[in-house]
Amino acid sequence: GRHVIGETLQQLPYVYCHGSSQRRLCSVSQRLQQSAQLSTFLLELKTIVEVCMKSRAGSFAIPPPQYYSQLISEMETLGWDKIIFLDTNIQTLKLKAEDSSGRQHTLSIKLKSKHPAEAPECSADLPVPLNLTWTPQSSLELLHSQFLLLLESLAEFWDVLDEIDQKTWILEPEKPSRSDTVRRVAIGSNVSIRVEVDPRHPKMLPECCLLGAEHVVAPLRNKLNANMHIIECGICYSYRLGTAIPDQVCNDPRCGQPFHQACLYEWLRVLPSSRKSFSLMFGECPYCSKPITVKMVTQAV
Ligand SMILES: [Zn+2]
Ligand SMILES: [Zn+2]
Repeated sequence: GRHVIGETLQQLPYVYCHGSSQRRLCSVSQRLQQSAQLSTFLLELKTIVEVCMKSRAGSFAIPPPQYYSQLISEMETLGWDKIIFLDTNIQTLKLKAEDSSGRQHTLSIKLKSKHPAEAPECSADLPVPLNLTWTPQSSLELLHSQFLLLLESLAEFWDVLDEIDQKTWILEPEKPSRSDTVRRVAIGSNVSIRVEVDPRHPKMLPECCLLGAEHVVAPLRNKLNANMHIIECGICYSYRLGTAIPDQVCNDPRCGQPFHQACLYEWLRVLPSSRKSFSLMFGECPYCSKPITVKMVTQAV
């Protein structure tokens, strides 16, 4: 009996497995010689075969030749200069993309063996989900252009963060990635401020939190609140706009955000949720979303 099983085992590497599994089976052959009981051995064998089958199923099925010809033409249309990485199986690609501020980004693409019928898996270092649409008629070039559009929608966010990174002493994260929305900035000995920028509204007042001993932080917090709510317009972040000062204040006491009349009017004017009645514009406060009203701007500031 052992002899027959032994012979079958010699065939197994070619039947079920490839590569490294072959070595495993050689040692299984030896185990057979050493096993006192056939049942113990068969149980061992069963486990080995299961492992082999599983590792084979997990790997990429070899795609048909059209897969490669399709991809080569897609890469040609895209432009070879945009491909910064390609693995030997032509399954994983990394494409480079530059936004309008000259920042470099990478789009990682993992192709399926049924490409282009099946959508590839894409990933990138972004603060928002990477939602790229794919149809069987799509191509790498289309993915790349969608990615560029997404990068442009985030350009303002990265401008704000780049400015923070250049002008302040960042404590955390040590090496900010493009997906990081939070910075902890040193503002004195043992005091820091945690700033979180909204990727979709980067010019809005960021969420701020002072960190440090309470007796040191408390006066700073008061100053910060005073500066945020009294001096700056919540839209243009300045005090003076021509001769105007931010005299339009949100009526919600917890918000109390001031705005320039012209800034608030412009803000509300383009929002579909706002409505106009006579010389008044009704809408929502850009900060707290409570109702806010502003008089129409009749003359240029
Ligand atoms: Zn303003
Ligand atoms: Zn408000």
